[in-house]
Amino acid sequence: MKLLITGGAGFIGSALIRLIIAEGRHQVLNLDKLTYAGNLDNLASVESAPHYSFTRTDICDRAAVQQQIDQFQPDAIMHLAAESHVDRSIDGPGDFIQTNIVGTYTLLECAREYVASGKAPAGFRFHHISTDEVYGTLGADGLFTETSPYQPNSPYSASKAGSDHLVRAWHETFGLPTLVSNCSNNYGPCQFPEKLIPLMIGNALAGKPLPIYGNGQQVRDWLYVDDHARALLEIVTRGEVGETYNIGGHNEKANLEVVHSLCQLLEELRPQKPAGVAHYRDLITHVTDRPGHDLRYAIDASYIQQQLGWTPAETFDSGLRKTLEWYLDNPTWCDRIHNGSYQGTRLGLSNDP
Ligand code: NAD
Repeated sequence: MKLLITGGAGFIGSALIRLIIAEGRHQVLNLDKLTYAGNLDNLASVESAPHYSFTRTDICDRAAVQQQIDQFQPDAIMHLAAESHVDRSIDGPGDFIQTNIVGTYTLLECAREYVASGKAPAGFRFHHISTDEVYGTLGADGLFTETSPYQPNSPYSASKAGSDHLVRAWHETFGLPTLVSNCSNNYGPCQFPEKLIPLMIGNALAGKPLPIYGNGQQVRDWLYVDDHARALLEIVTRGEVGETYNIGGHNEKANLEVVHSLCQLLEELRPQKPAGVAHYRDLITHVTDRPGHDLRYAIDASYIQQQLGWTPAETFDSGLRKTLEWYLDNPTWCDRIHNGSYQGTRLGLSNDP
């Protein structure tokens, strides 16, 4: 298949592309604007692969997106490009509305035009990648299913909810062959160090405080990123058009528990600590909670398991160990983000079609 992947230079998109190129069965065009979250270092291992190409394109630029689609002739579009960080959506929601809602609308219109023009191959599909945060927050019990009501609480989740609704409408109204997946919190290699786990790793290694929002009892259902990537490939290749699939890791953990596990693992894998630090856990500091902070997310992933046979391969312990080992083994990746050199320096290497 020819897969046009938006947001492929980000955390999940790059894991997906590395998986696809390693499997060697599909051809990829990565369409990414390269915002602060886009990092071509994540794709260093595949950048010269014959089945991979990259274009620096904004999903809101309709003419440019249409041109890329018409040239590449994808069998499927996998749409991951988004503004993805909740804290940034509170500080400045505008980019979230623009990329997540207007950008998704633009992409849907380009896909509709691609189908209407007769250029799209038979079986063409549009896979929209979304989050469980659209469902809002759970109490102590219960799980999100594919039919849970939408109750987004942050500007980020509201913008993703809006994009999910647009995708549904383009299927119902225009017959666009769409698939939607809503996934729980991902973690793993190449995650931008503003997110909980890489932020805590970087701070702990530097002997800086480990800031925990409020009491740290917010529960998330953690999924190792490669497990998400495998689920996305199953959905785009074998999923049923018009369907929604929830993806989760069966790993409910409170944020404070995650950080304690990380500190314990750091004691084992990096026993030589920064000056003045007796135990990594001593760096934990509670800070004012995020406004509108959802208490608990947890996914019932039985539908994708029954329909497509997908289950996560990693437990939280095995995934966290792999993640920490990756960050410890790749200090240059982190340094290049902190000194800003990750932005732009690989652009000359793109093999833009
Ligand atoms: P990310 O922030 O790491 O990457 C986003 C990518 O999109 C970046 O490469 C960025 O350059 C690109 N991008 C942003 N705006 C763009 C635009 N206007 N045009 C083209 N490209 C643009 O995000 P991520 O964590 O990899 O998440 C990918 C997708 O998965 C998002 O849609 C997100 O909502 C969803 N998701 C994420 C998680 C998670 O835990 N990270 C969980 C469930 C769903």
